[in-house]
Amino acid sequence: MINNIVGYRILHSSGQYSGDSGIGYDYILARNGVYICASNKLISARIPISSYCHIRGLADEKPYIQLAHGKIPAVLFELALNTALNGKDKEMYMAVTCLEDGYHLYLTSQKGTGRDVTYERMPDTVCDIHSHIGKIGPFFSGQDDIDEQGLKFSVVLGYLDERFPVCRVRCGVYGYYFNILWSDLFVGDLHNCIDANATESSDDIILPEDISQEEKEEKNVELHIKHGLRQGHSGGGWWHRFMSHRRVM
Ligand SMILES: [Zn+2]
Repeated sequence: MINNIVGYRILHSSGQYSGDSGIGYDYILARNGVYICASNKLISARIPISSYCHIRGLADEKPYIQLAHGKIPAVLFELALNTALNGKDKEMYMAVTCLEDGYHLYLTSQKGTGRDVTYERMPDTVCDIHSHIGKIGPFFSGQDDIDEQGLKFSVVLGYLDERFPVCRVRCGVYGYYFNILWSDLFVGDLHNCIDANATESSDDIILPEDISQEEKEEKNVELHIKHGLRQGHSGGGWWHRFMSHRRVM
């Protein structure tokens, strides 16, 4: 076994992979394109990073995401949305982290303007959440791509001036991004907010054949991941604990 940071693997028509895994992440060459695959103690993800193509002789790969401690309770999203709505004259950044006692939402001591927000990162962040000012829609900018590195999810909140704000959720794997549904990341109901990715066409996905249906449901790995736009922002300052909530699942 070679301890390379990056692994390169091929998914053969037999369903078997060849090639060595890296200790950081793997690129997977499949019939339907190239994927990147990585995991840490909180998140496992495999997302497509190329447009569709047909590579003869290989098997199709599928997107996959899984949170080690289950999906994030919707109440944390609601707290983040309400916080953003209360300060919609400037951009805001919040982080969902996963600690031993569950998921927590943090609001930083930060500098936000109508165009960007600077913030500091939290350890064990599972999801970055940032908002746009009132009339701006939910898109990820090139700056968001720079800020939101690593293996984690991100949410952008837009159209906060509207009766129903709109959110967009994506999975990031070391500089690559893949839009997913709100319900792929959060458990509970989405109230008073529209999921932008749910309104666009998509491919259903998913997963590990080595676990039972029961386990899939338990671990919430039934995903409906969707492709979408990417575009976003930035950081400095220090963190203050804003709110915490025990995990409810
Ligand atoms: Zn943004």
